[in-house]
Amino acid sequence: MALLPEVKKDHGTLKNFVNGEWVKPTTEKYIDVENPATTAKIAKMPVSNKEDTIKAIEAANDAWLSWRETPPVTRARYMFRIKNALEDRFEEIARIMVQEQGKSIDEARGETRRSIENIEVAAGITSLMMGYNLEDGAASNIDEEAIITPLGTFGCIAPFNFPAMIPYWFWPYAVATGNTYIIKPSKQVPITQNYMMETIQEILPPGVLNVVNGSHEVADTLMEHPGVKGVSFVGSTPVARYIYKHSAENQKRVQAQGGAKNSLVVMEDAVMNRTVANMLASFFGCAGQRCLAGANMVPVGDKAYDAVVDKFIEGAKKIKVGYGLDESVNMGPVVSGDAKKKILGYIQKGIDEGAKLVLDGRGIKVPGYEKGYFIGPTIFEDVTPDMTIAKEEIFGPVVSVIRMETLDDVIEMINASNFGNAASIYTQNGRWARDFRYQVQAGNIGINIGIVAAMAYFPFAGYKDSFCGDLHGQGQDAIKFFTDRKVVITRWF
Ligand code: NAD
Repeated sequence: MALLPEVKKDHGTLKNFVNGEWVKPTTEKYIDVENPATTAKIAKMPVSNKEDTIKAIEAANDAWLSWRETPPVTRARYMFRIKNALEDRFEEIARIMVQEQGKSIDEARGETRRSIENIEVAAGITSLMMGYNLEDGAASNIDEEAIITPLGTFGCIAPFNFPAMIPYWFWPYAVATGNTYIIKPSKQVPITQNYMMETIQEILPPGVLNVVNGSHEVADTLMEHPGVKGVSFVGSTPVARYIYKHSAENQKRVQAQGGAKNSLVVMEDAVMNRTVANMLASFFGCAGQRCLAGANMVPVGDKAYDAVVDKFIEGAKKIKVGYGLDESVNMGPVVSGDAKKKILGYIQKGIDEGAKLVLDGRGIKVPGYEKGYFIGPTIFEDVTPDMTIAKEEIFGPVVSVIRMETLDDVIEMINASNFGNAASIYTQNGRWARDFRYQVQAGNIGINIGIVAAMAYFPFAGYKDSFCGDLHGQGQDAIKFFTDRKVVITRWF
């Protein structure tokens, strides 16, 4: 099938968006952004330094003074305009995402839709941000009220796997509630977020929303500078822990979403055809690089095992791997050479620890893309819960099939994991589903759903090592994270 055209072959040298303008940072350090399917260099990204970041913080602090006085109804209208602008370039955003991140075009379109949905929710700010009051609340003739107020400037430190959506879990809520914002995209995939900023650059007043491209130094400056009130992070667990501690040391609000190791549990009464199709999307969508991806497949009892495993392997063999701009492709490459090396290391570890490799995606060749970072669907059977591949986050298209005998054993295994991002059960039995939902310690639970991606009006949850903090991204949690309550007690003589 013919490839969809790339928006641009080369996106040139990126700048930062600060105070309503694209500015060349002072840093002299630049890194290449690579297309993981072709390995072509498609942009140069500045690795901004402290000084570059402080310029954005100062601009955002200055903009806050008038932005917080902009009535919520007017702020909501900005959101409508932003939505329209993003809709106009919907397809371009999706294609750029494929080009720099590797996901298939359908996944990229889905992600673009999810990004815009957060703008739609934030457009309801006039209702979402209302405070509350109580007449005679303190005593007779003394009224009491709680006003919801914005705080200042916030920042986001984003991962590589959802280049468009993840900053949109946060910034629309921050800005709609009257704060100003700085996005630091992942250095592996900055182009999408820069392009989205370019798409909406005329809409917000200067300084309200800024993009600073870079790496650790930008992140550290956001966490340390007194002009930043809080930080939202999404990425791996070790970095989430560091961000959580370091932000707290500097008296910032912080929400830090970490890694995952999600189990998909199949009971003997599951509707098998639907279950297999759903699990294939969960394990291999985005080449397994989703924090909500299935990692362990757990059939409970022989009947479930016999009904699901062979069908799943047959389905996995049919997945078409290639460049995501080919609409017939189901799965793209992993994001980089380093990611591929790490995943191959885990596959070797699985073999060394005695798991049975029943589908080996290592040698895959994609005609025309011989250098790309492809790994085909890979499946291990006879995995035991103590093996490394059953416990650690691989973040690639690798499935560990773990046979279990009872649902109680499965729940015990899931709860023994350090991670608590997501878990799913496939069954028609309401009691089993209810026990699973009730007992499993994970923030996102799927019942006959393998990718438990909260809609924008629900929080994106996560427990244990998958989340450091209390308030999550999206929905009401995000409104609370970006605001405080000011209590006023009034008496008139
Ligand atoms: P990462 O932790 O390597 O990087 C995330 C961000 O942190 C990047 O912007 C990076 O520049 C910055 N960073 C990395 N090390 C830093 C340091 N020492 N100091 C300051 N900043 C630092 O994560 P990644 O590889 O980009 O993303 C993949 C990970 O993200 C996976 O573990 C995945 O499970 C997780 N993830 C979690 C969720 C969730 O909602 N829980 C969602 C998406 C991805």
